[in-house]
Amino acid sequence: MGKIDIASLSLDELISAFSKINLPKFRAKQVYEWIHKHFAQSFDEMTNINKSMRVQLNEQFEILSCTVERKLVSSIDGTIKYLYKMNDGEFVESVLMQYKHGYSICISTQVGCKMGCTFCASTIGGCRRNLSASEMLAQIYSAQRDSGVRISNIVLMGMGEPLDNYDNVMRFLNLVSDENGVNIGLRHISLSTCGIVPKIYELANKKLQLTLSLSLHAPNDELRSKTMPINRRWGVNEVIEACKYYFAQTGRRISFEYALIDGVNDGALCAAQLVNLLKGMVCHVNLIPVNTVAESGYRRSNKKNVKEFCDYLNDNGINTTVRRTLGSDINASCGQLRKTTMDSRGENT
Ligand code: SAH
Repeated sequence: MGKIDIASLSLDELISAFSKINLPKFRAKQVYEWIHKHFAQSFDEMTNINKSMRVQLNEQFEILSCTVERKLVSSIDGTIKYLYKMNDGEFVESVLMQYKHGYSICISTQVGCKMGCTFCASTIGGCRRNLSASEMLAQIYSAQRDSGVRISNIVLMGMGEPLDNYDNVMRFLNLVSDENGVNIGLRHISLSTCGIVPKIYELANKKLQLTLSLSLHAPNDELRSKTMPINRRWGVNEVIEACKYYFAQTGRRISFEYALIDGVNDGALCAAQLVNLLKGMVCHVNLIPVNTVAESGYRRSNKKNVKEFCDYLNDNGINTTVRRTLGSDINASCGQLRKTTMDSRGENT
């Protein structure tokens, strides 16, 4: 039988797993804190656990951690991009960014992605597998261990579609916000989705204080279906309805992501349609000049168009900002480092 993925267990689950092998509750609490407070990557680091118990733990449990395969530090703004190697040899990416209010990490939820958005590097090559809750945590813990900073904000905006790995993401959210662990409150976490509508409703019904980011990128079905295949399943109106429901249930302002692509979705007509679509909603629009991915052939909108688009939205009552570009010298956007690493090794098949 395989070993139990111990870092994906809640404290209660760990207590009951330990009781089955006659280990007392306080031992579960100690081990839980070693993993989730002190970021231990092996049982041998747990100095208040005696040798024979460590041997026992090693036989039955494993701590799924990740190792830093590559690390790029931006000379412009200090942003750090990590390429992590998981236990089975797969690679995922995380980005650690410094903002005025503290450190924020962007983590991956899957190895690759199957959503097929035409502008995105993560989806080239499809989805290889889901990440476990512990593997999402490991990206944060490894970054904290490596950088020595305290991370206060998390965005689920790396590789993968979080709502396509719903159960593990929910487990992750419970663990990461647990006060016995790393204790990052849900108010400091954003989940970004391309718009898997039934899962947005399911999430809304949980009434979490989590921010929902919706990757919109186009204001009408014709255009959105061209760049985001998910839109052929759930169209613009359905996804906006789901966002309104999310706000009604949680009181959390929705954040819309809109990557501006030169000549594709950055014109005056799109801006006007976007205003009509979002009018009256409690929301915020994040404009991102698209990051060029060689395969897509898309170019980012020029500065003048970005400014005009942004001003038009603000002038018409839609709260809009242009996302500050961090780590532009280190290929910081999602999927790109993994892809270039695998391409250069001939592994991207
Ligand atoms: N699957 C989720 C989260 C991962 S992508 C989602 O779709 O939201 C994180 C964000 O980056 C999304 O808004 C995504 O659309 C955007 N994105 C992907 N490729 C991009 C690119 N080349 N330039 C700008 N934004 C991009």
